[in-house]
Amino acid sequence: MTIWKADIAGERLGVITGPGAPLLLRSPSNAAGKSWRILCLLDDEQRKNLRSTARIEFVLDPESDFDFFIALSPAAKDVFEELLPRCGNPAAPLISVTDVFASRADAVVEQPTASAIAGAISSLTPLAARVGALPSIPPGADRNGLLALALAYTRSTAIKARWQPCSPELVGYPLLFGVENPRTVLEDLANGGFLRRRFHERLHVCGQCDSSQLHARETCINCRSSHLAEHALIHHYSCGFQAAQTAFEHRDGYVCPKCHKLLRHYGVDYDKPGFVTECLACGGTMAEPEVGFICTRCGTYTAGDHAAKRDWYHYELLADGLAALRAGALPHADIWPGTGYSLRDFCLVVTHALSVAEQHQRPLTAWTMTVDTDALTQEVGRRGVVEICQFLLELVKQNLGDSDVVSALPTGVVACMSETERTEAEAKLQRIREQIGSTLKSKPELKFELFGREEIGTLLRDLN
Ligand SMILES: [Zn+2]
Ligand SMILES: [Zn+2]
Ligand SMILES: [Zn+2]
Repeated sequence: MTIWKADIAGERLGVITGPGAPLLLRSPSNAAGKSWRILCLLDDEQRKNLRSTARIEFVLDPESDFDFFIALSPAAKDVFEELLPRCGNPAAPLISVTDVFASRADAVVEQPTASAIAGAISSLTPLAARVGALPSIPPGADRNGLLALALAYTRSTAIKARWQPCSPELVGYPLLFGVENPRTVLEDLANGGFLRRRFHERLHVCGQCDSSQLHARETCINCRSSHLAEHALIHHYSCGFQAAQTAFEHRDGYVCPKCHKLLRHYGVDYDKPGFVTECLACGGTMAEPEVGFICTRCGTYTAGDHAAKRDWYHYELLADGLAALRAGALPHADIWPGTGYSLRDFCLVVTHALSVAEQHQRPLTAWTMTVDTDALTQEVGRRGVVEICQFLLELVKQNLGDSDVVSALPTGVVACMSETERTEAEAKLQRIREQIGSTLKSKPELKFELFGREEIGTLLRDLN
């Protein structure tokens, strides 16, 4: 049985398997060029039997780096979930022949034919390059957060909440397929200023089992039964008796059950002032039934006004999220000193410093240093650019004092120096420039911009 064949850059490939037979990859080509590293979502034994070629390198160790996931069957879902916490490139483009991966699949091919898979690989080459340009995502506490940021950035999309009627929570994030507790991961990122929330839906939650699979219903205020009937009320003017219409119904028309008179004319003998609800389970009547929820998972009843609520959001990438992604780590000010401020905190701290400086007429100078990444990418590649930006941030932090504030920009650094005149800041920048010149082999094209106290407000607006 052939699992798939692919024709990539003129090269014919095929993975062949059969009962007891090893998987083989046929490729007689020796053409030079970029080779793609592919992690096939097969179990370890099957993966070991893949044979690489000049153009296609089947990654056997999932923890090494690779460019694409390929999923050949629905069972690949389990392999993906198992490998995601430790594999070398969790944000890699995913090509799937099944739709089990929902929006996490970057390409779904209907049939695992040579041309379909080759077409998917070639159409996803720019995406693979975009993912490859980011620092790798290490296993550990930040992994899921960085993965969420990487998927949003490289796929240029918000992380959208979607209905998932089979899950207890009813809502999920298909892009974060395989990530455990995605809502917690996303909420932490939003609280850290890396993602912006956009409201999706407010759901009620069962207080007993935390599920949102609740059924809303009107119930009897006495016995909680939903077996209710609504009747019009009749009010008999002459004796003042009022009851449900059913109590008045008689073969001759309406007869008052209290005074036994026949009610002839609406508006003269009687009127209908409203409705009453009767419980067919306990016989009680009530003006309004109660609205409540019954949990379809555990059966617990919760009155509507006592039910807990949970808000769900879509999430959009913010500048601080992109900066963290490029730095390859989420800043944790408390446990990792010296990483600088997040851009959001930078703006808060500088806004405060600015108002103090204005009030007391003290000097304050901010500046930005940005790298022409286009030129630098040609020289050192995209990962090299990331490393150089990290180096520049470190260098700036070493050169500044304790009362100065530094933050990473997507392609550079921003700093604010308290009690510093413009000329002092220029002298400091000159020293930094010299250090860069003497340390870096490649000479990045750097642009510096200074902002005096009166101009810092404009800078802050631009950063926000
Ligand atoms: Zn429940
Ligand atoms: Zn009456
Ligand atoms: Zn009842």
